[in-house]
Amino acid sequence: MADVRLIPCLSDNYAVLVHKGDETVLVDAPEAGPINAALAETGWTLTTVLITHHHADHVQALADVRGSARVIGPANEAGKINGLDETVKDGATFSLGPIAVQAIETPGHTAGPISYYMPGEGIAFTADTLFAMGCGRLFEGTPATMWASLQRLRAALPDETAIYCGHEYTETNARYAHQALPGDVAIAERLKTVQEARAGGEPTVPSTMAVEKATNPFLRADDPTVAEALGMAGADPVEVFTKLRAGRDVF
Ligand code: ZN
Ligand code: FE
Repeated sequence: MADVRLIPCLSDNYAVLVHKGDETVLVDAPEAGPINAALAETGWTLTTVLITHHHADHVQALADVRGSARVIGPANEAGKINGLDETVKDGATFSLGPIAVQAIETPGHTAGPISYYMPGEGIAFTADTLFAMGCGRLFEGTPATMWASLQRLRAALPDETAIYCGHEYTETNARYAHQALPGDVAIAERLKTVQEARAGGEPTVPSTMAVEKATNPFLRADDPTVAEALGMAGADPVEVFTKLRAGRDVF
């Protein structure tokens, strides 16, 4: 298994280093200082950077951290990202040294972001698409596109997969989930766990797919108990998802 190091950046972003053999992969480049400090501390030499999407808070430190690493990013956002050496499309599978990677395009937050799954390491990087207990805002997609992307992740990622997302938004997401589904015991319990972690200055990332399937309302838009709790029994999952996302936008 790879060594994985979570790197808090800016006010609430995460970058991640994945190290195995001679390969060191950085996922996203929000801020040079903490990333270069982590590289110095570990002694790892960056070999590859994987970019999830074009937003500045995920790419702006690229030039200051990349060194001689090759940079891979989403084909459908390539025109908006400076410094890509290679692009990947949905369904691409490739190897970074001993690390196997699958690219899953998950539009909704932006038009063509890529979530990266490393099946041999049991980890996935879902950036601003699937958050712990939440999902990204719909800047370049509709509720239907985001719901389809979340369903793809739900189907593709095994329960035990560690989910690394792009921001520490979990406490707000948990409070919203609890407000939307006050009778849900698993959500109420996770809210407590998350609040304790944050009060202690601990990250809530990564979670696992099993935990997200159980407690992330945005992955449960087709769960009849969620529709019922929102007063939408029998409604189409896209309508349920739309209401959940709209509520979070103003929470
Ligand atoms: Zn973003
Ligand atoms: Fe972001």
